[in-house]
Amino acid sequence: MDYSLMTIKELSSGLYDGKFSSVELTEFFLNKEDSCSAYISKNKELALEQAKRADERIKNGERGDLLGIPIAIKDNIMIRGVKCTSASLALKDYTPPYDASVIKKLKESGAVFLGKTNLDEFAMGSSTESSFFGATLNPIDKTRVPGGSSGGSAAAVASGTTTVALGSDTGGSIRQPAAFCGVVGLKPTYGAVSRYGLAAMASSLDQIGVISKNVEDAEIVFKNISGRDNLDSTSADYSFKECNVEISKLKVGIPKEYFIDGIDLNMKKEIDKSIDELRNFGVEVVDISLPHTKYALSTYYIITSSEVSSNMGKYDGLRYGFSDDDAKDLIDSYFQNRGNGFGKEVKRRIILGTHTLSAGYKDAYYKKALEVRHFIRQDFIDAFKKVDLIIAPVSPSFPFKIGEKATDPLEMYLLDIFTVTINLAGLPALSMPCKKLDNLPVGIQVIGKHFDEAKILSAGKQFEKIWNI
Ligand code: GLN
Repeated sequence: MDYSLMTIKELSSGLYDGKFSSVELTEFFLNKEDSCSAYISKNKELALEQAKRADERIKNGERGDLLGIPIAIKDNIMIRGVKCTSASLALKDYTPPYDASVIKKLKESGAVFLGKTNLDEFAMGSSTESSFFGATLNPIDKTRVPGGSSGGSAAAVASGTTTVALGSDTGGSIRQPAAFCGVVGLKPTYGAVSRYGLAAMASSLDQIGVISKNVEDAEIVFKNISGRDNLDSTSADYSFKECNVEISKLKVGIPKEYFIDGIDLNMKKEIDKSIDELRNFGVEVVDISLPHTKYALSTYYIITSSEVSSNMGKYDGLRYGFSDDDAKDLIDSYFQNRGNGFGKEVKRRIILGTHTLSAGYKDAYYKKALEVRHFIRQDFIDAFKKVDLIIAPVSPSFPFKIGEKATDPLEMYLLDIFTVTINLAGLPALSMPCKKLDNLPVGIQVIGKHFDEAKILSAGKQFEKIWNI
């Protein structure tokens, strides 16, 4: 039986009816060839043990959303006793002694961890090319990138080597790879999901979320991982409650700034068509403006680099991580361990962030960026006084060829224009496929108010039927 196309609910009912076991499912996924290099490692032993336990729980009459369901985990999220590399030489052999809070929750739900998926080193990138372990390929066209940084998770879902996956999103890393691989990605509200046990990139923006085949699967996993966690003081007291929005009563805003600059015109046409289809179902579509969008990329790259330079400070190779045994003395060991342990992009951001936080420049850059962030957030708050949801493109262009932008970091940063604003404002957003053009997927973002996941998911499930992709 081919389980690769089945959704969580389909798998659950097969498990409950005794049509197949979780061990069978798990073996199927573990044995399926990873032809896109989506995984850094597979957890054969742990997965089969978890599957066996899930089968026992099901036999004893227990039921649960994720009981016995296979899931892949981005390799910057800690599972106790399983290598967690963040796709870096610096942590190539690092085995965490604790579980991330989302992992603890998923263990209780009875999910089965198939393996750890590839990413851009420390989640810095938009193509999954900067991984120490090599690039992941896009399952739709293997000459193209899967997007990043959660490209491994998106490629694993799209290629059917897992049912669903966890990713992390600091400036688009769940939504953009989901769009590039033609699958669904959910970036929750900042604080809706605990970050404890996620290797930090930029702590005021990072958020763990879901990549899945459809909106319902994203909702199921989100329900299971969200909520307050005492180990993350920024996590919110929040419990997810499903809702059912009537789309004929929905008012959706289209931000004009997202449809003028830099967007591929063929992509724009497809998105316009998809919006027209929503109109035919009674959705009210109005134009809105998010006037500070033009400052978003510079604000994002100043804030992330600053936080990156601080978060990366702990990787000195002295207590754990990559360490060069030939270092002459302590100072030399810092140079060797950090100079050789990190790749180019990570070092670029550490240098930039150290500069923007330095005594003479922090007022001009870092503090200024924090002030502008406030305006960007306020744009959204004002817009949401007029509309229920906002619809926007995910990426200005289609998945590009492997290597095409690898040598030009600035060009790569420009791709993040439509996703970083959401992180700066702390909002939830769904990325979902709406059309295909020459077999390449077109993604759309459905953005909601803070903690309005229920609404974007409910609308998303209905839009999915309308776009029928
Ligand atoms: N592409 C963005 C960056 O490189 C986003 C990364 C992310 O969301 N982790 O910063």
